[in-house]
Amino acid sequence: MSNTRVERDASTGRPILVAPHRRGRPMHTVPGKDGAELCPFCPGAEAQTPPECDAVRLDGSAPDTPGWLARAFPNRYPASPAHEVIAEGPVHTARPAALDATTVRHVLALWRRRIAQVESRPGIAHAFLFKNVGREAGASIAHNHSQLLGMSELPPRLALERELDRRHGGHVARELEHAERERRIVGATRRFALFAPRHPKLPLETWLAPFDPADEFDAASDDAELATLLVELFGAIDAALHAPPFNLWLHRIPGEAFHWHFECQPRTGFLAGLELGADAYINSLDGVDGARRLREARSR
Ligand SMILES: [Zn+2]
Ligand SMILES: [Zn+2]
Repeated sequence: MSNTRVERDASTGRPILVAPHRRGRPMHTVPGKDGAELCPFCPGAEAQTPPECDAVRLDGSAPDTPGWLARAFPNRYPASPAHEVIAEGPVHTARPAALDATTVRHVLALWRRRIAQVESRPGIAHAFLFKNVGREAGASIAHNHSQLLGMSELPPRLALERELDRRHGGHVARELEHAERERRIVGATRRFALFAPRHPKLPLETWLAPFDPADEFDAASDDAELATLLVELFGAIDAALHAPPFNLWLHRIPGEAFHWHFECQPRTGFLAGLELGADAYINSLDGVDGARRLREARSR
């Protein structure tokens, strides 16, 4: 599908991905109607998606047949020429908290392979990885999945983070250091921490980052720790907020020294006039209280 194009927001210069055919997207998120028989991401429904680009299959099963544990295929309604879906686990469930750490490890391996493949294509500078959970967070299919969107330039938010890092030093390392001092750590392993930033933009904004700023997301990794911590994050959010819609995205800059991190944002409210019109946020729950809530929810 090639009728996508990038235009510029005349007022900010930011990219707008124009994709008119996305108006025709089906919604499979209506409660009670998202059963496996309707789900195009379930095993057995492979013919309902474009042919897969890659999958984790431990049983030697053939492409586009059941047997996969994580499966990547082009988005049927792409927002750019390289827009992929990664179905996460063969079990039909909409909540990432229901995934086990082994499945998340397979997903991480597939994310890494797809990022490398998409970013190797001409004209693509960045593959943005994100996850929408729940209709209010943008999900149109209620089967655990994530998306990878190839972009011709670094997304504006990442350009901003890089610029601030150049001027003031690494912001993620600084946040992590403060988080340890101020009890904003939600969970940690030897290599990674799950924590609230000092000043969350919205309630329960949570980051997951390696302690080592030089850690490379793209490098092959065993992923057991990372998978465990992601599962803890998903579980804590569901327990603290009764399975809310949320978004998760990966911030990394290909080929550059940048302290990569995931950011997770539960969608407890709406984006309103100040957020949309001023790029500024109103937050009613500070990071210390937010982290405590997630820690308590985790231990319940
Ligand atoms: Zn399904
Ligand atoms: Zn970031």
